[in-house]
Parts: sequence; structure tokens; C-alpha cells
Amino acid sequence: MLAPCLDDEEVQHENLSTAYISWYITLINTCMRLITSAHRYFTLAHELAHNLVQPHNSEHEFYFSAICEKHVQGLGKLLASH
Ligand SMILES: [Zn+2]
Repeated sequence: MLAPCLDDEEVQHENLSTAYISWYITLINTCMRLITSAHRYFTLAHELAHNLVQPHNSEHEFYFSAICEKHVQGLGKLLASH
């Protein structure tokens, strides 16, 4: 079975006069911004939970999860706006 070809018809015919890679770089940059924002969100929630519980235990996990759940819709709106 052949792997699916991801190149468009012009690239398949070796017409490389247009910057075909630009959409891909834009997509990667957008994904990286979304991942970075989500990572910061969860890191902040993790550290906020440490204000309530110092060790990494089930109680810390409870507060971490509660903080994440409380504000996850805001995160979703923020990510959707970018
Ligand atoms: Zn920690």
C-alpha cells in the first residue's frame, strides 16, 4: 500500500514557483502558540494549587483540577480568539 501523497497537484508536477511551505509554517506557529498558552495555563494552575497544598499529593491534585476546571472555558475562549 502506498503512503498518501500530501503534495498538491502543482508540487507533484514539480512546479515549485509558489511558496507551498508557507501555510505549513503558519499552521505550526499557530499550534505552537496554542500549546504554549495551554502549557502556561496548566503551569499557573499547578503553582496556584501549591499555595493551598505544598506536596504533590492527592489533595494538591484536587485543587489543581478544581482550578483548571473553574477557568477552562476562559482558556478555550482565549485560544479560540488567536
Ligand atoms: Zn509542583
